[in-house]
Amino acid sequence: VYANPIYKHKSASRTLGTLLVIQDVTDIRKLETMRKDFVSNVTHELNTPLTSIRGFVDTLKHGAISDEKIANRFLDIIDIETERLSLLIQDILSLSAIESTDQDKRVDEYDIKEIIDEVLDILEPKIKKKNIEIINDINQGLTYRCNRDRIKQLFINLLDNAIKYTEKGQVGITCSRDEQGLKIDIWDTGIGIEEEHIPRLFERFYRVDKGRSRNMGGTGLGLSIVKHIVELYKGRIDVVSRVGEGSRFVIFLPYGEVNE
Ligand code: ADP
Repeated sequence: VYANPIYKHKSASRTLGTLLVIQDVTDIRKLETMRKDFVSNVTHELNTPLTSIRGFVDTLKHGAISDEKIANRFLDIIDIETERLSLLIQDILSLSAIESTDQDKRVDEYDIKEIIDEVLDILEPKIKKKNIEIINDINQGLTYRCNRDRIKQLFINLLDNAIKYTEKGQVGITCSRDEQGLKIDIWDTGIGIEEEHIPRLFERFYRVDKGRSRNMGGTGLGLSIVKHIVELYKGRIDVVSRVGEGSRFVIFLPYGEVNE
């Protein structure tokens, strides 16, 4: 709390009185700290793959290039690190695009099943690499008025996680509607999440296990993007999870006014 002591009216030559401004700066400070943390996290996250790329390029230049086997291994690492940088930049851009929007244009009515089928096609190469059965329980005809790309991104992030954190088992999607909106349920029988981590999952760059997330190609921003999209649609997201049994993300998206 701070006070702004003396207030002098411009046209008056004498002091008219004292204006005491009491403002709670806790929220402002909190926002400022969050912004600083974000910048320092981004810098760190960008620097890690960059340092690794530079190191391997340097080693190649200093002789490793003449050993084909080693050179190929290093080039593969450089490829993975470049991909990581690219994913990270895409996620940072998505997050900043969502944050600078206060309301999404609900362009048209879209079929949820069609969006989910498209998302599953995109994720097919990742599904194929594992022993995962997809249980797609969504019927045709469930529509939602939204910005299609945004809702597609929400499903990509949640399904990508469900697949990433399940080695062997099932990943399921169900969807239902009532007078108020749409309820979407994305669940998996994967590794699960300890209870103590659940309240922090939606924070930017928060990961239960940093190394594991990185190895899986995670940026630590996926759920933070999900949370922002759900908030943009004035919806809700709940998580239920048990270690070793799996996780369930339940999203409620209310219907909104048509805003062209
Ligand atoms: P990441 O890119 O690391 O996956 P996210 O923001 O998408 O970042 O998720 C944050 C963290 O939440 C992950 O690092 C992981 O520890 C945990 N998590 C998210 N979804 C799941 C899931 N379906 N099963 C187990 N853990 C999950």
